Amino acid sequence: MHDKTLAELSRLLAEGSTTSVELTRHFLDRIAAHNDSLNALITVTADSALAAAEAADAQRAAGNAGPLCGVPFVHKDIFCTDGVRTSCASKMLDNFIAPYDATVVSKLSEAGMVCLGKANMDEFAMGSSNESSYYGAVKNPWNPDCVPGGSSGGSAALVAAGLAPAATGTDTGGSIRQPSAFCGITGIKPTYGRVSRYGMIAFASSLDQGGPMARSAEDCALLLQAMAGFDERDSTSVERPVEDYSASLGDSIEGLRIGLPEEYFGEGLDPAVAETVRAAVAELEKLGAVVKKISLPKQALGIPAYYIVAPAEASSNLSRFDGVRFGHRCDAPADLEDLYKRSRAEGFGEEVQRRIMVGAYVLSAGYYDAYYLKAQKIRRLIRDEFLEAFNEVDVIAGPTTPTTAFALGAKTDDPVAMYLNDIYTITANLAGLPGVSLPCGFVNDMPVGLQLLSGHFTEARLLNVAHRYQQVTDWHRRMPAAYQ
Ligand code: GLN
Repeated sequence: MHDKTLAELSRLLAEGSTTSVELTRHFLDRIAAHNDSLNALITVTADSALAAAEAADAQRAAGNAGPLCGVPFVHKDIFCTDGVRTSCASKMLDNFIAPYDATVVSKLSEAGMVCLGKANMDEFAMGSSNESSYYGAVKNPWNPDCVPGGSSGGSAALVAAGLAPAATGTDTGGSIRQPSAFCGITGIKPTYGRVSRYGMIAFASSLDQGGPMARSAEDCALLLQAMAGFDERDSTSVERPVEDYSASLGDSIEGLRIGLPEEYFGEGLDPAVAETVRAAVAELEKLGAVVKKISLPKQALGIPAYYIVAPAEASSNLSRFDGVRFGHRCDAPADLEDLYKRSRAEGFGEEVQRRIMVGAYVLSAGYYDAYYLKAQKIRRLIRDEFLEAFNEVDVIAGPTTPTTAFALGAKTDDPVAMYLNDIYTITANLAGLPGVSLPCGFVNDMPVGLQLLSGHFTEARLLNVAHRYQQVTDWHRRMPAAYQ
């Protein structure tokens, strides 16, 4: 069962060859057997999952089940879930029981999906390796000495290891795509505004976007269908009809114009990863795509601009965690200032504190123009450069990450080396563009991700190209030996 895609499980449910209760038991058993070694889930909600599975089976028996009804999955622990701890992998929220559901959570429940628990992640989604979690690092199922990527590392690892057929993730600078690449699964970051951020704990509000992580593009299409849509409770959610993502999956990609930016194949890219990605692009050419070399010289400004904008917004968003209204409170504070200081010093980890300090600095009077305002201007230039490129090509292709998954501990003492991991993913967030990462091969037995980017609100096209590739390759079907 756990080697099947979500779409396959959905078909088995539809034809009556299995039930939601059976599937839910199977995946809960998988979690019980493997979560100790992987550390991919922070919370397991077995009782409510079984109750939801029974309800899903009853709904199906009554004849009104959609394709996701009864399918088990896991939520990243950044999505508020009513009555369940929502920790954001921080000591600050270790005791926080959310009093309401995020919109994404209610949408997937309405679709009849069965939530098995909450996935581990980097603390407040800050990181590229899942090592900043208060609950400890997640292991990469392909090699337990390597990181799964981050910040949605728990989501990626648990899907890769077959502990659930799918998970939710969030992507502020690459956190859906980078862990998907490191763990050999498929994940899509939608256009900014496509999926509601209501109830998704905010990191950098102008960059954050939730999306699905699963084995295949076909699975992601089904999930995105249920997640996307206008939400009046999120002022940045876009009022625009949701396309039928599954309908165009099989469309021909004959004549599709793919741009290969020279900047995505330059210095810092592992040559073996480059070769693997080029082979994937050649496969798309065989399917009729036309490849064109392009240049995006402003891409290099992405990391510096992001690491000003994201910490600035984070410092503002995280000011609500003050020891008074939410989460951790220090013992016996001497006065209000002591309460704030010690609650925050004890509740936040090192990386989160670093970002708050950088953010407060770049927003402070005297530095605002030199840093924050300048970064915002660069952000606009990056967006304009992308939009210009999309006059000439339909899709931009390249590696998701410069290397395959690195060793645990390899970059924890060097934040800048950690930040450089996001070099190919971060600019899509700055520009609000959708991006997908899909498995396209292996280097030294570790998965490699192909990243495809396209214009705003063209998720259907990305999923179409990814699906066509997955129809002629089987990288997305591979599973790590220890979890088959
Ligand atoms: N790795 C990036 C960061 O640390 C992106 C994280 C994310 O997308 N949530 O900020």
